[in-house]
Amino acid sequence: MSTPSASARRFTATTLGTARIGPNRELKRAIEGYWAGRVSAADLEVTAADLRRRSWEELGTIGLDSVPVNTFSYYDQMLDTAVLLDALPPRVSAIEDPLDRYFAAARGTSDIVPLEMTKWFDTNYHYLVPEIAADTTFSLRPDRVLAEIAQAHAAGVNARPVIIGPITFLALAKAVDGAAAPLSRIDDLVPLYIELLDHLADAGVEWVQFDEPALVADLADGLAEMAGSVYSRLSGVSRRPAMLVATYFGDAGDAVGTLARTGVEGLAIDLVEGNVDTVAAVPGLADKLVVAGVVDGRNIWRTDLNNALATLGTLLGSVGHLAVSTSCSTLHVPYSLFPESSLDDNLRGWLAFASEKFTEVATLARALRHGRDGEAEAFDACRTALATRDTDPRLRNRVVHERLAAITDADVTRGESSARIAEQNARLGLPALPTTTIGSYPQTAGIRKARAALRSRAIDNAEYQRRMRSEIEQVVALQERIGLDVLVHGEPERNDMVQYFAEQLDGFFATTNGWVQSYGTRCVRPPILYGDVARPTPMTVDWITYAQSLTSKPVKGMLTGPVTILAWSFVRNDQPVSDSAFQIALAIRDETVDLEKAGVGIIQVDEPALRELLPLRNVDKQAYLAWAVKAFRLSTSGIADTTQIHTHLCYSEFGEVIGAIAALDADVTSIEAARSHMEVLDDLNAVGFANGVGPGVYDIHSPRVPAAEEIEKSLSAALDAVDSQRLWVNPDCGLKTRGTDEVVESLTNMVTAARSVRATLT
Ligand code: GLN
Ligand code: ZN
Repeated sequence: MSTPSASARRFTATTLGTARIGPNRELKRAIEGYWAGRVSAADLEVTAADLRRRSWEELGTIGLDSVPVNTFSYYDQMLDTAVLLDALPPRVSAIEDPLDRYFAAARGTSDIVPLEMTKWFDTNYHYLVPEIAADTTFSLRPDRVLAEIAQAHAAGVNARPVIIGPITFLALAKAVDGAAAPLSRIDDLVPLYIELLDHLADAGVEWVQFDEPALVADLADGLAEMAGSVYSRLSGVSRRPAMLVATYFGDAGDAVGTLARTGVEGLAIDLVEGNVDTVAAVPGLADKLVVAGVVDGRNIWRTDLNNALATLGTLLGSVGHLAVSTSCSTLHVPYSLFPESSLDDNLRGWLAFASEKFTEVATLARALRHGRDGEAEAFDACRTALATRDTDPRLRNRVVHERLAAITDADVTRGESSARIAEQNARLGLPALPTTTIGSYPQTAGIRKARAALRSRAIDNAEYQRRMRSEIEQVVALQERIGLDVLVHGEPERNDMVQYFAEQLDGFFATTNGWVQSYGTRCVRPPILYGDVARPTPMTVDWITYAQSLTSKPVKGMLTGPVTILAWSFVRNDQPVSDSAFQIALAIRDETVDLEKAGVGIIQVDEPALRELLPLRNVDKQAYLAWAVKAFRLSTSGIADTTQIHTHLCYSEFGEVIGAIAALDADVTSIEAARSHMEVLDDLNAVGFANGVGPGVYDIHSPRVPAAEEIEKSLSAALDAVDSQRLWVNPDCGLKTRGTDEVVESLTNMVTAARSVRATLT
């Protein structure tokens, strides 16, 4: 292979990557079987190879003429890149077997702490965070990539390996042991990527894709310039495949122009979130292949083929060659609409999961080359299906729109907070340092059995309700025995804190097989928000009032907040997401009003996803935080000042959302405090937050039982930062993943600690 631009076959239709968990979660089952010792490494690899082959075959059959490979992973693509660069942390190096070493880095062992896991940009996918210490060395281990390419070539696939680019790899890694920011190591990585290019050329690869989504986020200053210099150096190598640099999840801004000035042959650009006119105006694209992401890779809506073709048309004059693609990997959407048998025709017509998206890409590519006429059938079907979206009554609920239009400041404002809290204290009569929990209790075998029996119709709804009530009885009795001050019902009836509400609200649809990978083998089935949201009947009142009837202690009502419901669903694309947030907020508001009417004195509205939806670009952040806060306040301001609102947040490093947390104006905020109580409280004090706060006193993500003395110490430290009137005592999250015995011991120690610190107060 000599000059890549001359020899590389141009392609016309592709996707930036595909899901790997399997259409029926085959990989999940095989990997979990391997962990349990039921599946051998060889059998696991057979399953993996088969899934890859089927996926490539599907893309080819549909008509994509360049097929992404190496988007397969046993756990996560960032972890795979750390393996490629031989940069796993030293604590796993003693594990001889490469697969076991890999899984140890991913999930830990009894004595190895796994890598940290965090959200992949603003998606719900979690990646493993590579650790870069000052003495971390890098070297290239391309065997796995090359093996996958060989498998693809043997299957006759026009394979385009996909590799995470060096800038994104380092920008998302974390410095450990006092090392400098990982991006400072960029010059160590460039030679390895050059070495990789050489191997790929040997393997007969025509195109390689380097993923650089970091270029759409303001993660660090100067990333665009760094991209210019890195990709000039990589493209300056003479013996290599043609290079495609892919940005996605937003507008790549300056980076497009900068990359256009380098010698890379192609750029993949997200035109669902990015602006096509800006791209068309970039000089220097005239001799490049532009892979235009006009089909949304991360949401589930059918593409308007006419619009997409117009977008492509805008680029025709200014780019060298044009290929059609999804905007990002389809990792983030379900495999296919095929198994969704309970969809009505209208709804089905509005949707496109991964398979349907590939077909859209192929159709657009053909229309681009040979004209629309040959594709008339697909364009007509698209127009007819989308037209029903304009007239479907479920999309426009007049009552909801009237309520939204009538919202005033008074609807998002409660009484002055200190007066409010004084009234609540008088009503509730709680001791200082009240003890409570975040909502869920262990998911017992009884709960799981009842749920399965209901699904298989072995029991009816009445029997299911009876069993859930008996779970509530046990959880209430348990909390009374332990001596907690504010009780919960334990959430046994909730399969998931978002899906539970989505199933009861108008405007949402739950899929039957719409699984997407959340992390590792964990998959979620996000509900689809497609229409105006309304709450036909109360959703939680019976459960909470039943729990309250069993005890004289206050029981908290438990709701999921509007931002979190939105963040963990696929959302409609025909109105601003803030409008959808306000609609959900009104439904939650109705629920708080009904809970209050039923005599519930404390209502918790969880917003663990508040920070997740934070936009990637700094310029967009304030606007987001403003509507997110407004949505929360809309959902919690319909009740009297005597009713106490709690919220729960799931992170300890607030960073840019700290001001918003204070602005939520909840009476009590429970929050994860993994770093230390003091820091969490100092951060909140710094923005003038003066309401109640419950920094989690122990980590529920680990089975370890904290000693009472340890909890006492952190409570005393907390009292240095906030006065005893404001401090609540709680674990740092819900308890549903824990075992009952640990929970009893931990909470008992927590109550003991609270009591002894309480006794020292004057
Ligand atoms: N109330 C929920 C629970 O306890 C909160 C879960 C969460 O923060 N993700 O399970
Ligand atoms: Zn939590």
